[in-house]
Amino acid sequence: MSTPALKIYNTLTRTKEEFRPIDPAQVRMYVCGPTVYDYAHIGNARPLIVFDVLFRLLRHLAKQGVWDGGKGETKVTYVRNITDVDDKINARAFERGISIRELTDQTIDIFHEDVRALGCLNPTIEPRATDYIRNDDKQIDMVRLIQRLLDSGHAYAADGHVLFDVTSMPSYGRLSRRSLDEMIAGARVDVAPYKRGDMDFVLWKPSKDDEPGWQSPWGRGRPGWHIECSAMSAAHLGETFDIHGGGIDLVFPHHENEIAQSCCAFGRDVMANYWMHNGFLQVEGEKMSKSLGNFVTIHELLHTEKFGGRKWPGEVLRLAMLRTHYRQPIDWTVKALEEAETNLTRLLERVGDATATVISPEVVQALLDDLNTPLALSKLHSVRDPSILAGSLRIFGLPAKRYVLRAEPGAFTLQGQEIEMRIFARNAARASKNWAESDRIRDELAAMGIALKDNKDGTTTWEVKR
Ligand SMILES: [Zn+2]
Repeated sequence: MSTPALKIYNTLTRTKEEFRPIDPAQVRMYVCGPTVYDYAHIGNARPLIVFDVLFRLLRHLAKQGVWDGGKGETKVTYVRNITDVDDKINARAFERGISIRELTDQTIDIFHEDVRALGCLNPTIEPRATDYIRNDDKQIDMVRLIQRLLDSGHAYAADGHVLFDVTSMPSYGRLSRRSLDEMIAGARVDVAPYKRGDMDFVLWKPSKDDEPGWQSPWGRGRPGWHIECSAMSAAHLGETFDIHGGGIDLVFPHHENEIAQSCCAFGRDVMANYWMHNGFLQVEGEKMSKSLGNFVTIHELLHTEKFGGRKWPGEVLRLAMLRTHYRQPIDWTVKALEEAETNLTRLLERVGDATATVISPEVVQALLDDLNTPLALSKLHSVRDPSILAGSLRIFGLPAKRYVLRAEPGAFTLQGQEIEMRIFARNAARASKNWAESDRIRDELAAMGIALKDNKDGTTTWEVKR
């Protein structure tokens, strides 16, 4: 049976379209990653999980040979960047009295722990913006991209800044479907003396002595946010690629500006053929905000009792996210997490000790329709064979039974990754001779049926007590 085509909703055309890669040998996807100045909040988790499922689906289809005539050799390249140069980063590092590098390194480590706990695969490439301001190993970097825009008359330098001239691009506003007049009327326009037009945006700005800066033809300075993604996507995926993803809040101005920069710098009509955006997330029916006190980070959900008075396993957070279609708004509630946990527990009971085999064709079929995860999850109910059920869970990035341990029915699940982290925390406690904490962690794990063994060489291994 040949696999039917993948259809995805394209924000550019506002329609569902059949997905066809530019190059049948390689599918290329770029997703905007985090700005690393603070813990990622649960709204940030949505694109991480959604595009991880898409990545898994694309890899599955590639292996089936759907784009290369059955050979199954199509590579899937997924680039998700890290923005480690930003005024919010500078301000936070100053507030905390640490260096920018310390702040961004710490935040990146926490981010990586979060995404692993959420069951996300590593992207193929995870470029850091500061490595692409100037990068002689690549065909393109931010400084060269800006120079191209200046040379082709799409940008102008003024007062140490370089700005993109939006009137130089007739199709500016195509993605967000706004005319320049509408943008000016609707936007909080930054008025600045060096700007020719209100909607012109910054490609490069000068740095004061105490701000991070790089040498450039326009003086010591740093890039604007939008140019980072244009440079990093071009460096790894080329001038035009297949899929560009992100949250719906990025459509304007970020993605509109990425398109303007990339299309004008390379003389192309499109930057990416398919633009995908996940919907908003709200918490218990309200917009998430620090002032409302309902702001919650991935880290807090995993490791504290802030939300619903308990910790939540990463796989429960993941399933809760996937039970709503990615384009719909999602309401993040304690009730929804409890339902997801019950749902997952039942699925894993049905999997039992089975080893994952193939994925149910009905599950794949549902995902082919613009990544319809709620429909695909509902198809799991009719999968009778436990090993096919286990195989099908994997395309959602949900764990197979052997990675998940449950203390008792209705209790909670704990992933191998999390066990390792607790062992790490216990080792740290032992190193600082905090025996009470070390014993507490050992007892906590024992209560979940996990036995620790301290070895002579200083390592700790664990096994499940049956
Ligand atoms: Zn971006």
